[in-house]
Amino acid sequence: MSECPICGRPSDHRGELCGYHQLAMDNLHEGQETWNLALEIDWDSYLDHLYALDELGQWVREVIDYIRSGNSP
Ligand SMILES: [Zn+2]
Repeated sequence: MSECPICGRPSDHRGELCGYHQLAMDNLHEGQETWNLALEIDWDSYLDHLYALDELGQWVREVIDYIRSGNSP
């Protein structure tokens, strides 16, 4: 069983991330579809905008760090 590269918990059956971080990743992608329709914002700008939000959850913030680290598939 592999471990989540962000937090070291056991990976979710759907991928390399744990359930918490996989859920955060799913939410990121779903949110981007909505934003893209409204604002035609690109992925990097979307992440920048989210990251600047004070209320952004810890899980999502860690996933964004992970994506930006270049280790995300
Ligand atoms: Zn994790």
